[in-house]
Amino acid sequence: MRIGVPKEIKNNEFRVGLTPGSVQEFTAHGHQVVVESKAGIGIGASDGDYQAAGAAIAAEPAEIFAGADMIVKVKEPQAGERRMLRPGQILFTYLHLAPDPEQTRDLVASGAVCIAYETVTDAQGGLPLLAPMSQVAGKLAVQAGASALERAHGGAGILIGGVPGVPPANVVVIGGGVVGENAIEVALGMGADVTVLDRALPVLDRLAKRFGPSLTTQYSTRAAFDQLLPAADLVIGAVLVAGAAAPRLVTAAHVKAMRPGSVLVDVAIDQGGCFETSHATTHENPTYVVDGVVHYCVANMPGAVPRTSTFALNNATLPFGLAIADKGYRQALLESPHLKAGLNVHRGQVTYAAVARDLGYAY
Ligand code: NAD
Repeated sequence: MRIGVPKEIKNNEFRVGLTPGSVQEFTAHGHQVVVESKAGIGIGASDGDYQAAGAAIAAEPAEIFAGADMIVKVKEPQAGERRMLRPGQILFTYLHLAPDPEQTRDLVASGAVCIAYETVTDAQGGLPLLAPMSQVAGKLAVQAGASALERAHGGAGILIGGVPGVPPANVVVIGGGVVGENAIEVALGMGADVTVLDRALPVLDRLAKRFGPSLTTQYSTRAAFDQLLPAADLVIGAVLVAGAAAPRLVTAAHVKAMRPGSVLVDVAIDQGGCFETSHATTHENPTYVVDGVVHYCVANMPGAVPRTSTFALNNATLPFGLAIADKGYRQALLESPHLKAGLNVHRGQVTYAAVARDLGYAY
């Protein structure tokens, strides 16, 4: 199969669909890979690195879209890219179609076969191509929070781990899924005093077994929020209710009751946020202050570390991409219900129930 990797063109997107290492896997399987010139610049991979891995380099995205059987990307195709898709061409990338009627209309019109990373499933009921970005965001949440707690960044001037004789910061993590677990790991590693809240007892049970008595687990109730938030230095919002906007668990009154210079990191902001006072921010201007409390609400946190994020994403996408290339998409989808769950648009039809329902397509 001919695989095409265009340079990402969405604003501030530095990740790339395939690393040179992934290219080498595709070429070892007998496939041809064409990468757009400078596509890897944001992850420190030069055109020479891609050539050494067996790829050809194309100067223009049009060459890639015209020649490839499968396009491998990171972000959803932008309008200009959508115009270059051909009937029957495979598109393998993040799509997030439900809130995006324009993109959905264009993908339907293109006749392409569009497989979305975010809806591919695994045997445990998880979303394996979304999980790596949640791992990155969870770890980054503590880094971002630690930086915001510094005096120069508006925080109370507290060092997360303290020093002998001075107690560490009090960190509260709301939601103990993939983001939450990774945040807990980093916060405990830095020496913080950490409490996690979740609604699912099996989640609390798993975290208690993994981290032992150094982690406090608490069932997520209003009363727990009333008690914990006024004493918190850093609160990380990491809840997810599948297929729904994030519940606004922390109210404006809770924020008012917090200490000045304490910090909220709302990782769930990409689903609307779980703090009533949250609104989305960018890497250029990541924080703002409400009632003396610093808010960090960057909607695409993994974009801060495109190199780590690209490698993490490739580790998860590579086996699926290879299966599509080796077997052809029809056979690969027939053999794997998990990959089939990723099929969102197929030759002019929306094939993902939630997208069809939300955007009014026949299913
Ligand atoms: P996940 O499904 O693994 O975990 C979510 C957890 O929230 C679950 O354990 C669930 O039981 C818990 N939860 C649900 N309702 C709750 C409540 N009322 N109180 C406490 N806990 C509750 O999801 P995840 O992969 O960890 O993602 C968490 C959020 O982070 C999602 O909104 C995701 O979209 C977002 N995210 C954001 C970025 C970013 O750049 N901002 C990056 C990755 C993920």
